[in-house]
Amino acid sequence: MARESPAQFDPKVDYYSVLHVPPTASSSDIKRSYRDLLLRLHPDRNESESAADECTGIVNAYRVLIDEDLRKRWEAERKAAKEEESNVWKTLRWTDLCIGHGGVRSAECRCGGQFALEEDELKDLGAEEEAILVDCDTCSLSIEVRTK
Ligand SMILES: [Zn+2]
Repeated sequence: MARESPAQFDPKVDYYSVLHVPPTASSSDIKRSYRDLLLRLHPDRNESESAADECTGIVNAYRVLIDEDLRKRWEAERKAAKEEESNVWKTLRWTDLCIGHGGVRSAECRCGGQFALEEDELKDLGAEEEAILVDCDTCSLSIEVRTK
């Protein structure tokens, strides 16, 4: 059969956040988190109706992330899907941005406009999120700013 097998993963789903692991997680990190999560959701301990659904999601995420080949393909498709949808021009580390007035960080767009990241957004970036999309003030492009 020359046909590709049916989709084994969904590029729209962030399996890392499902398993509560960072994108840099090793397979032992993934295994540990998977076991912890399943234990917590085990019907003996958790009777909520959403627990069963959550379990299915976790098992799916584990299946993709623990398989090196699947994980790579999912990551590649996810990256492509994200870029397409958000018009990301490039990815920068937040330390690559220029520091401006009042702690605002900025970068110049290829159109001559600015990407400006306010201090508040920067706090969120450090505390919760690993990456944030910043829109150009002039055109429709965005940059992705990462903490790592
Ligand atoms: Zn622009």
